[in-house]
Amino acid sequence: MMIIDFHNHFYPAEYLEALEAGPSNIKITYDEDGNPLLHYPGDYNILVPSHRDIDHRAAVLEKVGVDKQILTFTTPGTHIETPQRSVELAKIVNNGFAKIMQEHSDHFTALATLPMNDPEAAVAEAERAIKDLRLRAVEIFSDVAGKPLDAPEFMPVYEKMAELGRPIFIHPRGEMSTPDYEGEKISKYRLWTKVRWPYATTMAVCRLVYSGVLERLPGLKLVTHHCGGLIPYLVGRLDWADDVNEMLMGQRDIDLKEHALVYFRRIFYDTAVSGNIGRFSAPGISPAWIKWSLARTCPLEISSAGGSSARPLRRWKAWD
Ligand SMILES: [Zn+2]
Repeated sequence: MMIIDFHNHFYPAEYLEALEAGPSNIKITYDEDGNPLLHYPGDYNILVPSHRDIDHRAAVLEKVGVDKQILTFTTPGTHIETPQRSVELAKIVNNGFAKIMQEHSDHFTALATLPMNDPEAAVAEAERAIKDLRLRAVEIFSDVAGKPLDAPEFMPVYEKMAELGRPIFIHPRGEMSTPDYEGEKISKYRLWTKVRWPYATTMAVCRLVYSGVLERLPGLKLVTHHCGGLIPYLVGRLDWADDVNEMLMGQRDIDLKEHALVYFRRIFYDTAVSGNIGRFSAPGISPAWIKWSLARTCPLEISSAGGSSARPLRRWKAWD
């Protein structure tokens, strides 16, 4: 059986060089081990060797027996830059991924990142990345600088991806600088990643379903991280809540031709939950939903080989 890791992250060298050269809203410093730290508004990421050294990453894969990784970019994304710079950096990232795919085709393939703060350019970059660079699909974040994914300006991106017949992988985002409670200055205890990222995925997917984006584009394929966040837990609630609300409130504020679960079932859910996958067998959840997944026989660490905004946690030791 071929073992393919769908969820991991990598920063191409050309992207890091472009950040150093500027302009960028990211400032780079280095820790005592020589790892770059990307400081951006609201948070920072430490780039351990697996994030930025493709030979190191390849050696790790061989060591743990993973056949192939689908590389993706990660936070903070290029949308934190000016639109013009966002477009430039997205191209640099995608060109870097294409080069890795050519030089290391035995170990790696990749998804493109898109400059979503310039939707027109994002459409063009999606087409270039898929058709010219031969990247497999695209990755976007769960919001674009605070805008929900069902904002009308993003529809052309979804239309293009439906036309290309390639999936969109939705990755959560959010920063420490956004507090969880009024009166506090930051999100404490890394709850912005532990809890709010899966919640962000949940909200993003629900907005795309309930706004009718999936209904309007039957060919649109979505892949969600963390098994769709809370969706598997809430599938029963998502199933009956619209009918109950209509009964109680006397009106229906959802205008879909089909039941919402029809659209939720069209989405692919990865299994990189870093949690108890026993929930996959919860009542109402079909294993058929779980399609783009890590092989369950893989060690947990494989899903974190790239990781995002990672502190040098214990799990990294397996990779260095
Ligand atoms: Zn991730």
